[in-house]
Amino acid sequence: MDTLAARSDALLRQKGIKASFQRVSIFEYLHRSKEHPSVSQIFADLHPCIPSLSRATVYNTINLFVEKKIAIPVHVDGAEARYDLAEPHHAHFHCEVCQRIFDLPSEDLAVPESLKDFLVRETQVHYRGVCPDCRR
Ligand SMILES: [Zn+2]
Ligand SMILES: [Zn+2]
Repeated sequence: MDTLAARSDALLRQKGIKASFQRVSIFEYLHRSKEHPSVSQIFADLHPCIPSLSRATVYNTINLFVEKKIAIPVHVDGAEARYDLAEPHHAHFHCEVCQRIFDLPSEDLAVPESLKDFLVRETQVHYRGVCPDCRR
């Protein structure tokens, strides 16, 4: 078992999830991907390697990951929801033209001064617009 597989397995168990081969495979796929994939994309990419994998399993696994705060939905209006791992925490920029979703560093996520008396449990920052490539 390589280190990523061992780490994935440990993380799922720590979150109280039975680390089946399919779940670990989906977790690792999210870990490797920079694309913020949808359920359809995850299924299309993993199914050739794991013929026993069904679309319903991908869907259920992603929902379980979201419920356990392992993954977060990165919503795109009018399209299938796309997903990313919750850790490390970061902000997103969605390009309306090419539909790519960019990761932005978490240093840009400082809690504003106006919230200093609040207990902030979660921050989700999502920008939308046109990326540098599409502006040219
Ligand atoms: Zn773009
Ligand atoms: Zn992301």
